[in-house]
Amino acid sequence: VNAQVYVSYIRGYYLQSGLMCSISVLGLARYANQQYTVDLIVAFSVFQVLMFYHSSRISNRVREGIALQLSNAALAQQLRGLRTKVRIDAATDALTGQGNRRALDALLKQQLEFSVSTGQPFSILMLDIDFFKKINDVHGHLVGDEALRSFAQRVREGLRQGDVCTRYGGEEFLIVLPLTPLQTALEVAERLRLAVEAEPLPTTPPLAITVSIGAATYKAEQTVDALMAAADAALYMAKRSGRNQVQS
Ligand code: GH3
Ligand code: MG
Ligand code: MG
Repeated sequence: VNAQVYVSYIRGYYLQSGLMCSISVLGLARYANQQYTVDLIVAFSVFQVLMFYHSSRISNRVREGIALQLSNAALAQQLRGLRTKVRIDAATDALTGQGNRRALDALLKQQLEFSVSTGQPFSILMLDIDFFKKINDVHGHLVGDEALRSFAQRVREGLRQGDVCTRYGGEEFLIVLPLTPLQTALEVAERLRLAVEAEPLPTTPPLAITVSIGAATYKAEQTVDALMAAADAALYMAKRSGRNQVQS
């Protein structure tokens, strides 16, 4: 709705009526001493009043129509925004703000299809914070939650734009690295591991933690489940071999 245009039409109409009225009154005044002048003035005034009455009714209807359309448009926009928010919320982990399991499943399916059709590689990293249970036991669950948020943020900062970090389980995260062969995935993982180890998380109190990471690259004919199992096995190896390390 271009309300501005309608409103300026209505204003133009009033201006025109006003001008016409003034010109007529001036014309009548010139013949003020002639016969029928009073009759003419009365008839003309009645005509003007009727005109004004009807035109203002019409313009009010137009105004109401415009207001209605504007509020409809605003509602529709609000609804669109809400739909987008619901869609984003449905794919987001509430605690860490990263993707959730649902987003991960959709992304892996999409990556696999892309790899099958283009032959391009992609890799995943499975991260599990070392001895996280101890943080909860010593500092309580709230500090544990803060640590998870802070950890996710540090990991996110260490990734490229196209990489996706999702929260896979409690203190487990899964990162999808599009167009990335195993060698590069291992480098990314090592960089993340170092970034986590480098300084304590800025929680209250600050917490020094480490992370174990299992890496896997998609192989032809593999299913999503098999790829995940490979990353999980690599993570298990990293834990078994002493934690705070990357395995593939
Ligand atoms: P490991 O090095 O073998 O991984 O040891 P761990 O203690 O990290 O592993 P474990 O799986 O035994 O413990 C994970 C803990 O993570 C247990 C659970 O209470 C905690 N946890 C899971 N989800 C959340 C959460 O949302 N918030 C908090 N605060 N803790 C969580
Ligand atoms: Mg775990
Ligand atoms: Mg753990």
